[in-house]
Amino acid sequence: MHLDDKFGRKINYLRLSITDRCNMRCVYCMPADGVEKVGHAEILTYEQFLLIAEAAVSLGIEKIRVTGGEPLVRAGVLPFLEQLAKISGLKQLVLTTNGVLLSEMAQELKDVGVQRLNISLDSLQPEMFSQLTRRDLLPKVLGGIAAAEKAKLSYKINMVVMRGFNDNEILDFAKLTREHDCTVRFIEYMPTMKDENWRSLVVSSQEILQRLNEHYSLHSVDRGALAGPAEEFAIAGAQGCIGVIAPLSGHFCRDCNRIRITASGMVRTCLFSDHEFDLKPLLATENIADIAGTLKHLVLGKPACHSLNSLSAEYSPFTMAQIGG
Ligand code: SAM
Ligand code: SF4
Repeated sequence: MHLDDKFGRKINYLRLSITDRCNMRCVYCMPADGVEKVGHAEILTYEQFLLIAEAAVSLGIEKIRVTGGEPLVRAGVLPFLEQLAKISGLKQLVLTTNGVLLSEMAQELKDVGVQRLNISLDSLQPEMFSQLTRRDLLPKVLGGIAAAEKAKLSYKINMVVMRGFNDNEILDFAKLTREHDCTVRFIEYMPTMKDENWRSLVVSSQEILQRLNEHYSLHSVDRGALAGPAEEFAIAGAQGCIGVIAPLSGHFCRDCNRIRITASGMVRTCLFSDHEFDLKPLLATENIADIAGTLKHLVLGKPACHSLNSLSAEYSPFTMAQIGG
């Protein structure tokens, strides 16, 4: 079964944001005092997420990412992941986390069937980490990464690069791949909240690669069939890989293979489009074929590309925690 959009992109990747709550307050993701929380009654139940996942897999979705907010703060997440992992036809179950709760949960995540983690980490310097996340939790996150390694749970580290904040750590992050069998991915900062000076904060993927190439000899690495829009490289002799994700300057949209479900059950086929479809009324019917039919129809309406690079970019500011990244 294939789920194609009208531009010939194969849509095989579903992202489920299971909560808008978070135990951090990253500056690039949400305001210091957080965002107005979606009421508990609005948040989908795990049963509803499972209905969506089953419908999506029946259509050809092969990879599911559970994200948030911070997915590990939602009660009952482990049994939910265990159910997801059992969906017949699903090839990859992965999870994005800020790592704060990982030291307690890494082994259980592995045991319930999570195949890989994306761990967000933007600085290895305690002060910069606290400035960026507004929380003093770097030791917890580093402990979580160690726990993932101990549990033999493979992981990628996602670093959002911001000029004048953490861009002087690009080489330090790349160096991690020499001793750790993980992928470190550098992500261009995205203007989700439309801050006035956002362009000055972006370090383009070309500049990131240039800085890396000045110090290391990098070679290209093949990406798997389920890979997203990242280009991957490795330092000669390193255990791990380096990825660069360029939502602004690269071919992000051309290679886009995903759809997103927000914590309140809205389908978002493009991160930077205001068009959302409310699945909740349909979920009440518990009819998987109808849910699948609707998802298929929505995928056909997936836009070709976001308009972030045009001055007239028309999207409402949002916090990534509401959509799931
Ligand atoms: N709380 C989890 C975490 O931080 O990994 C999962 C949710 S978070 C919204 C998902 C991803 O979105 C993180 O890797 C985060 O760095 C990224 N993100 C959030 N806001 C961003 C922005 N403005 N530009 C680029 N990436 C962003
Ligand atoms: Fe929370 Fe993740 Fe957003 Fe940071 S990026 S505030 S950890 S949801």
